Amino acid sequence: MVTAKAWVLKKHFEGFPKTSDFDLKKIELPKLVDGEVLLESVFLSVDPYMRLYSQIGMKEGDIMIGSQVARIIESKNPAFAVGAFVVANSGWRTHFISNGKNLHSLPSSWPESLPKSLGLGTVGMPGLTAYFGLLEVCKMKPGETVLVNAAAGAVGSVVGQLAKIGGCKVVGCAGSDEKVAYLKKIGFDEVFNYKTVTSLEETLRKASPDGYDCFFDNVGGEFASVAIHQMKKYGRIAVCGAISLYNDTVPQKGPYVEVPMIFKELRVEGFIVHRWNNRWEEGQKALLKWVLEKKIKYHEHITEGFENMPAAFIGMLKGENLGKAIVKV
Ligand code: NDP
Repeated sequence: MVTAKAWVLKKHFEGFPKTSDFDLKKIELPKLVDGEVLLESVFLSVDPYMRLYSQIGMKEGDIMIGSQVARIIESKNPAFAVGAFVVANSGWRTHFISNGKNLHSLPSSWPESLPKSLGLGTVGMPGLTAYFGLLEVCKMKPGETVLVNAAAGAVGSVVGQLAKIGGCKVVGCAGSDEKVAYLKKIGFDEVFNYKTVTSLEETLRKASPDGYDCFFDNVGGEFASVAIHQMKKYGRIAVCGAISLYNDTVPQKGPYVEVPMIFKELRVEGFIVHRWNNRWEEGQKALLKWVLEKKIKYHEHITEGFENMPAAFIGMLKGENLGKAIVKV
C-alpha cells in the first residue's frame, strides 16, 4: 500500500496566495488493476496559470492542478515499463495511479545528460507557448523588432532566444538587475529592469526608436497599455498572459487601448498553447534540437522538497524565479 501526499486548495486565494490557503493531505492508493501504472513525481511545475485557473475551475478542497515529470514505479500496463519517465498532468501529488491515457513520454532523442525537468519548462509547455505564440500569433519575420516582458521567466526567456534564432532584434525586461544581466548573457539586444526605470515609455522608445513589430505580452495591465503606443503600424501583439492582474482583488480600470489599436491597425490576439496540441511533437523536437545545439540556453529555479510547493508557487508569483520554477521532490 502506497500513501501519497497531496496539496489541496484549502481556501480560495484573496489577493496574493498565502501558505495558509493550502493543506497537505495523505491519500492511501489502492492496488493496481490491469492496465494501470503507479507513478512517483520527481519534478513538479509551479505556473502562473494555477493562480488564474483556481478562481474559475477549482473549488475549495480540490487537489491543486499541475503537471509533473514522474517515474513509473509499478506497472500493469505493457506500454509502460517500470523506471520510465513521463510527463503527467496529475496535480500536486507525490504518487498517483494512471491508466496511461494522459501520460506523455519525453521525446525519444532526449539525452541522459539533459535534466528531465526541462520537460516542464524549455522543452515543455512554457517553451511551446513561446514557440507557437511567436510563430503563429506574432508571425515574426527576420529583421523585425520583438518586445517581451517577464523575459527572464520560463516563457519569456525562450521567446527572446527564439526571436534571435529567427533573425529579430529583441528587447526584454524583468524585475531585477540579476535577471537583466542574465538576459544580456543569453543574447537579448536591449534589456531593462522595469521596476527601476523612471519612465517605461522613454525606456521603450530608447530601446527601439522605430517602435516594435511584435509584442509578446506576459504581463498585461499598465505595461501593455504603455507598450501598445509604441507598436509599429500593422504590429502584432500576442496576449499570452496578464500576470500583473492575477492577484488583484478589485479589477484594474483603463487606460483604454482602442485608439492606438485603430490608428496603428494592430492585430491583438489572445491564445492558449493547447490550441496546438496536435503539433506538440513538432515543437518539442525543434526546442530540444536548439537546446542541444546550445542556441537556446536554460536556467531552472529549483526548490527542494514537496512540502515547499506552496512557497515555491508564491515565490514564483513574486518573481523569485530566474527561468522555470520547478519543485524537486
Ligand atoms: P515566469 O517563469 O515568467 O514567472 C512569472 C514571472 O512573472 C515572475 O518571475 C515575475 O518576474 C513576473 N511577474 C510577476 N508579477 C509581475 C508583475 N506585476 N509585473 C510584471 N511581471 C511580473 O512564468 P511563465 O513563464 O510560466 O509565465 C509567463 C506568463 O505566460 C504568465 O502570464 C502566464 O500566465 C503566461 N502563460 C500563458 C500560456 C498560454 O497558453 N497563454 C501558457 C504558459 C504561460 P519579474 O521578476 O520579471 O517581475
